[in-house]
Amino acid sequence: MLTGPGALSVVSVPEPSCGPGDVLVRMRGTGLCGSDLAVYAGRRPAPYLPWILGHEGTGRIVAVGAEVGGLRAGQDVVIEPDYCCLACAACLAGRTSACDSRAAVGLTVPGLLSEYVVVPATFAWPVPPGLPPEDLVCVEPGTVARAAMRRSGIAPGQSCLVSGAGSQGLLLCQALVEHGVAVFVQEPNQARLARACALGAAPLLPGRDRLPYFFETSGAPGVVEQGLRRLARHGTAVLIGMNTDPLGVSPRDVVAGQITLIGSMVYDHPGDFAGTVAALGPGTKTRLGAVVSDNYPLEDAQAAFVAASSASGKVWIDLS
Ligand SMILES: [Zn+2]
Ligand SMILES: [Zn+2]
Repeated sequence: MLTGPGALSVVSVPEPSCGPGDVLVRMRGTGLCGSDLAVYAGRRPAPYLPWILGHEGTGRIVAVGAEVGGLRAGQDVVIEPDYCCLACAACLAGRTSACDSRAAVGLTVPGLLSEYVVVPATFAWPVPPGLPPEDLVCVEPGTVARAAMRRSGIAPGQSCLVSGAGSQGLLLCQALVEHGVAVFVQEPNQARLARACALGAAPLLPGRDRLPYFFETSGAPGVVEQGLRRLARHGTAVLIGMNTDPLGVSPRDVVAGQITLIGSMVYDHPGDFAGTVAALGPGTKTRLGAVVSDNYPLEDAQAAFVAASSASGKVWIDLS
């Protein structure tokens, strides 16, 4: 549990009780990403302290509620950690990411960095048995990447700039390369850049022509403005990384450049998660875990959070 900015401790809490529409999951692993680090560091306040962090999780069902059909104890699952209401106008229109009452696990409701968690059954996705936990902890951030790619409308054979090769940038590079897109990446950390290139992306060289698509994953200051200057006329920019700075472009830049600007918030239930889970199945070449660089046991969670901000790839915590 987070007890204050940058301070974690392992705490015993009562085992959560499984409601009629829930499943109880014994967690196997939880991945760390930028939004977890922001809560850990106090840049994004936790709703209260002490707080259970984490939203990228996988585990095994140990109990199912009385009203749950189609899931059973013993199944391995990944958790879709954005519990939308499924009843409002946005949800009914399929835009569940815009649900006003969406609960964001680890950010607005307690997280997954825990031995046991209770999950509404609709948001627990069974996965084929025997997959490595490195792949499974990447399903959630991988779905964020794939939803951004889907919303962009980019087609095989096209090219793009990806800014940032942290774990989200790496998963996006992987998804775009698999989709048949030529990916050019901009990343100051040489180890991360090398990892992106190993996944099939190429470094963005000075003098390269403007590109028709731009994906921003880092949230670093000033990078949106830089990326928009590399965007071809009539191009599409997709923002995933967040900060609170003004964009640094004028309406004239947008109008004269005929730019489409897309803010890509998480993913929409159920299609986006279903797509990533289906891509894990037998006969596919998707190895989401290729973006993982390190894992730590629960007792070293503090070290994991410290390492995650500069690691060359995704860091996850082993809860086995
Ligand atoms: Zn995340
Ligand atoms: Zn809703």
